[in-house]
Amino acid sequence: MTETKRPVNSHKAYHAHVYFDEESKLVAKKLCDESGQLFGLSVGRFHEKLVGPHPCWSCQITFGARDFEKYIAWLEENRQGLTVFVHALTGDDLKDHTEFAYWLGQAVDLNLDFFKKSLVEVLHGHADFD
Ligand code: ZN
Repeated sequence: MTETKRPVNSHKAYHAHVYFDEESKLVAKKLCDESGQLFGLSVGRFHEKLVGPHPCWSCQITFGARDFEKYIAWLEENRQGLTVFVHALTGDDLKDHTEFAYWLGQAVDLNLDFFKKSLVEVLHGHADFD
């Protein structure tokens, strides 16, 4: 089970990943577009496919501690039942997606193997012995 933690403003920078599917993509698109328009935030691609550790289609929004309170409150008010995965950006991908992972709405299990696999590849690539 994924532990559901509410976002807390204890980091410098964050991602919000809006999760959606075929049925909810218009609501999601509006939420992402307005994040850019109203808050001037940097909005990533609108992925109608699985990317990274995300178990749902997703769109990534980057924001900082300064915008945290207003933006999180706005997301909560406007997400219309969508799940929004919020995580810190500390440079440690695994920690950011476990210890520093927060949810608005229903939490879902992330595909954390994504990071383990990358780590194995990195280690393997740098191994001097076999
Ligand atoms: Zn992210």
